[in-house]
Amino acid sequence: MRQPLPPGATIGIVGGGQLGRMLAMAAARLGYSTAVLDPDQHAPAGQVAQKHIAAAYDDGRALEQLARSSDVITYEFENVPVGAIRSLEEWRPVHPPAEALEASQDRMSEKIFLNASGISTAPFAAVESDRDLARGLARFGHSGVLKTRRMGYDGKGQRVFRNATAEEIIGCFEGMGGTPLILEGLVNFVREVSVIAARSLNGAMAAYDPAENEHRNGILARSAVPAAISPSTAYTVRETAFTILDALDYVGVIGVEFFVLEDGSVLVNELAPRVHNSGHWTEAACAVSQFEQHIRAITGLPLGRTDRHSDCVMENILGGERRNMKRLLEEPNLMLHLYGKREARPGRKMGHFTRLTPAGAGGPKGSPSAE
Ligand code: AMP
Repeated sequence: MRQPLPPGATIGIVGGGQLGRMLAMAAARLGYSTAVLDPDQHAPAGQVAQKHIAAAYDDGRALEQLARSSDVITYEFENVPVGAIRSLEEWRPVHPPAEALEASQDRMSEKIFLNASGISTAPFAAVESDRDLARGLARFGHSGVLKTRRMGYDGKGQRVFRNATAEEIIGCFEGMGGTPLILEGLVNFVREVSVIAARSLNGAMAAYDPAENEHRNGILARSAVPAAISPSTAYTVRETAFTILDALDYVGVIGVEFFVLEDGSVLVNELAPRVHNSGHWTEAACAVSQFEQHIRAITGLPLGRTDRHSDCVMENILGGERRNMKRLLEEPNLMLHLYGKREARPGRKMGHFTRLTPAGAGGPKGSPSAE
């Protein structure tokens, strides 16, 4: 294996949101500098990184400047143009691999990749017309979730059908922007969980305990650990994440979201080739957070332990919500994290907090009915 990157080296981060900010903070603790590329002058990560290049992601000169400033490069969101990552790869090592980015950018190629790796997903069909939609809905019992194939996040660009009628279908394709869509069968899940896993440069892997996630309006509201799932379901989700990491020859942290069915079996909903919102709890409940784990993986350091010293519940703080910060800060065993965003637009992720309780006290933190 290559030598680990020495302290003082610089990590380039494409994307300067809160994930980039928390990566930059973790990198700083390990003695690394960071350079961030993000067009927003006030990007949260730009406030804590040593260098901020405020330019578009496809600006060739800015990409070259980032590469020249960095010893290794990573990215913090999956809608980075793949071409930008490929051009950075010509200069410096980039982790995770561009193939992971490519697979996760298109919901269709993501599912094809997963199924080809022996991993189950919701049934799906490509939709490029109202006719395709009608055929797909007929196949999936007249119910399903229609999604844009690309650039969807936090439930944006989605439409749910239940016992769809012919009238509901007319004009849907154009109504969703006339871009390629995917129809997924409507999954009757009992809970949603995710796992944060990591793979190092030499192929070692580690995974945190699965979190149970609650979404509101398509946005993650809350992650609870431990999830109310059986040990065998927990084992399956971890092994599934490891299968994905190996299949992609991945380096870094990945987030994998699952639907858990009544019988405890799981389907993968989606992949995020980056640190993940449902793993923020690790900064409060583990000695090595997902952010440090990612920095360790991409710099060639050994992976950290993933065990938890506490049970916990993480909640997002969204723009437009009324939260009593003083009261939160007065709570014992609560870790608050704010992202330094100037504008609190409704639904925008402004921060999060994690409430800790001693491990094992009071049973699972997810919904009460464990299967
Ligand atoms: P996504 O953007 O694909 O993660 O979807 C956002 C949320 O919509 C998920 O977390 C689920 O709660 C719900 N959802 C997405 N796809 C399906 C599906 N095929 N069946 C049932 N619910 C879904």
